[in-house]
Amino acid sequence: MLPDIQHAIRLQILDDRVTALTKEILGLPKHIAEIEKKLEGHQRRLELDKAALAGNLRDRKRLEGEIQTHDQKISKLKGQMMEAKNNEQYRAFQHEIEFSTQEIKKAEDRILELMGESEPLDKNVKAAEASLAIERQQVEAEKATARQRTAADQQEIDTLKAERATIVAEMTPSVASNYDRIRKGRAGVAVAEAVAGRCGRCNIVLRPQFFQDLKKGETIMTCESCSRILYYNPARTVEDLGGSSQQPAKSPGSKRAGSKGADSEGIRRINMSGPSGGTRVNMSAGTGVDSDA
Ligand SMILES: [Zn+2]
Repeated sequence: MLPDIQHAIRLQILDDRVTALTKEILGLPKHIAEIEKKLEGHQRRLELDKAALAGNLRDRKRLEGEIQTHDQKISKLKGQMMEAKNNEQYRAFQHEIEFSTQEIKKAEDRILELMGESEPLDKNVKAAEASLAIERQQVEAEKATARQRTAADQQEIDTLKAERATIVAEMTPSVASNYDRIRKGRAGVAVAEAVAGRCGRCNIVLRPQFFQDLKKGETIMTCESCSRILYYNPARTVEDLGGSSQQPAKSPGSKRAGSKGADSEGIRRINMSGPSGGTRVNMSAGTGVDSDA
């Protein structure tokens, strides 16, 4: 395989990882904003319950005050009744006493109602206060984790970019600039493996002669349909492309046979695997790209 092709494949792996990391970095503030908004919502609901509970207590106090006033009024009226000069006056006092007694009864009933209402409110407030304390801690912890994650991602991006610069420096300038141009125009993917006579990205069937030429690996060839840089990899595992050694693929350290992730789908598979791929790609010795299991 041409060194330029090997470099392009490696660039694609680095660029995919940078893209994934950048996406993660951009997604973290959004995630934090979401959980903070949820927390605020819970906080607001608690404030409303608290306000309702305070209103409930206030109403009960007021009603208790009213009862006291009516009680005082009744005992005063009872005294006045003793001194009533005629039946008419007597009945008027009696009438007033009845009114106050009814008012006391109404107030007592309302107090009972309010007490019934305050019970679940009180429970809600206590439960919400407890869960909010936990939620607040969780949000703080997630924020700290996000900050660490961002810093780690950024550091990894810096490392990947440094490696990228080294690789680009070793490439034929026109191939490197072609790679960048294709990558921009083709949804971030500039390199495609030819699998079973087809372009591994756009799936077009390659002309037999074209495929034969590609297999020879003597020139840089691009897909006639999607324009991506094509490569043919008979070994079809990333390790086999690595400059570290040209050992046969059955070396003990090889992840080739039967191992997860680096199966016969080879580089294409690894390129496309997301953060959960868990495949360590180790083309150039010493610098692995760990797709963050
Ligand atoms: Zn194609």
